[in-house]
Amino acid sequence: MTEGKTISLEHFREKKKKEELEKPFPGRLVWLRCPKCQNIEYTEVVAPNGRSHKCGTMVEEVEVKIDLRAELTITHYNLKKIEALLKENEKFKLLKIISKSLDKALLALKRSEETYLERLHISAKQKITIYPGEIVDIKNKLPIIEENKLGLLISEFRFKPEKRFNLR
Ligand SMILES: [Zn+2]
Repeated sequence: MTEGKTISLEHFREKKKKEELEKPFPGRLVWLRCPKCQNIEYTEVVAPNGRSHKCGTMVEEVEVKIDLRAELTITHYNLKKIEALLKENEKFKLLKIISKSLDKALLALKRSEETYLERLHISAKQKITIYPGEIVDIKNKLPIIEENKLGLLISEFRFKPEKRFNLR
């Protein structure tokens, strides 16, 4: 084999690998609602035969196809944002009671993002990576419905889950 061929083969492999990292990672998550307790939560566990809530009532299920890599990218961004907000808030902590409650709220948000991140990896059955590039450049490729007051991005999947159920 000549050197030229070796190099192009290596190049091809790298190009393939790069393409792989930029491809959507199809998956699904399920929104669950207990009609008795009225609570709504998501799960990565798909149960074709249905399931019941801890109260014993059969839950309503809405399965949603998503791009796990896109969700991961958004969540990753949110976690970075929350970290920055926590750091920012740190400066005011000793001065204001209000910043303490903001801190609490941010930590709760952080936990919920971390849980989501975990579920995405479980759903993918492997560690997946985020889309390469800065968020501003790839934003329009992502299923972002809203940017909230804190600057966190809300994906289509997580936006108003109650609307997915036929509520009277
Ligand atoms: Zn229930």
